[in-house]
Amino acid sequence: MERLLGWGLALRSPPRGPHAGGALHMKAVRFHQHGGLEVLRYEEAPDPEPLPGEVLVRVRACALNHLDLWERRGLERVSIPMPHISGSDVAGDVVASTLPDLPPGRRVMLQPGVSCGRCAACLDGRDNECPQYEVLGYQHHAGGYAELVKVPAQNLVPLPDEIDYVQAAAFPLTFLTAWHMLVTRAGVRRGEDVLVLAAGSGVGQAAIQIAALHGARVFATVGSDEKRPRARALGAAEVIDHYQQDVVAEVHRLTNRRGVDVVIEHVGQATWTRSVRALARGGRLVTCGATTGPDGALNLQALFARRLSILGSYMGRKGELLRAARFFFAGQLKPVVDRTFPLAEAAAAQRRLEQSGQFGKIVLEV
Ligand SMILES: [Zn+2]
Repeated sequence: MERLLGWGLALRSPPRGPHAGGALHMKAVRFHQHGGLEVLRYEEAPDPEPLPGEVLVRVRACALNHLDLWERRGLERVSIPMPHISGSDVAGDVVASTLPDLPPGRRVMLQPGVSCGRCAACLDGRDNECPQYEVLGYQHHAGGYAELVKVPAQNLVPLPDEIDYVQAAAFPLTFLTAWHMLVTRAGVRRGEDVLVLAAGSGVGQAAIQIAALHGARVFATVGSDEKRPRARALGAAEVIDHYQQDVVAEVHRLTNRRGVDVVIEHVGQATWTRSVRALARGGRLVTCGATTGPDGALNLQALFARRLSILGSYMGRKGELLRAARFFFAGQLKPVVDRTFPLAEAAAAQRRLEQSGQFGKIVLEV
């Protein structure tokens, strides 16, 4: 930390003397083994050391994602080096950089997708299809549950003064994901009907706003009455309680039996069948997640006879985030923040996400 202070940046945390071993400086929340919330440890960790082309950022806020829970619990076929620092959605200040337009002290949010920047996919603007693509905080790139993080320079997005760190951290991953699903994959058009599952989820609150921004009529599902007005405030024309009401019957009633043009699916096994049944002829179902399980049946006769499209989507392109950010900075897209926790209380924050009681993003302040 003294080294950072030497770069002239005012840090919120007080300066500390050099660690006995000289190697540990920053505070971070790490886990050394997979498991429950109890494996999350608030402790000292080595400062990241930027490689050429990378920039060191002082984290001010980091939003949670379901990915953080999967990383902590452990994933089949995915090996996560230990100890691990999660956190894909980061806003903070540039600490060390040689880029003239992004000097130390510049306020930024981070692109959550890290790619090589040199392959055909990257140079074609499809960086989320890069063979080396990885999400910040997922496997090999330590994330934002820490005072410092390093990223490639192309992952920095400068912030206007009026956007605060918590709002900024709540934006990138879910809005990028929802933008790619709706705009790039589904090609949503003005006047179409879009069903968004789980309005209170990160992807849900982003998808409602992006669909409405593109002139679609949005139907959103919620799991409690308190979430109804909040979904409407984001732009949902109709709100369906997925516990109290038959979602498919409601969609058919609201569309004069036609069904919806696009379904934004991220729940998985628990909702898959009715999501497919809610589609109109020619409808597109886009999925980016399966939090309730990976298995879903598909009636192939319905698929071809009704000309349905089933589209997979994972993250999005750097250019898409910059485009979505223009609407964010202009006040037309507003990430919803459920509540904030101090970094040291990351376990309590993850517990809230696990319990699904939130509306919008849960954010750690660092
Ligand atoms: Zn690449």
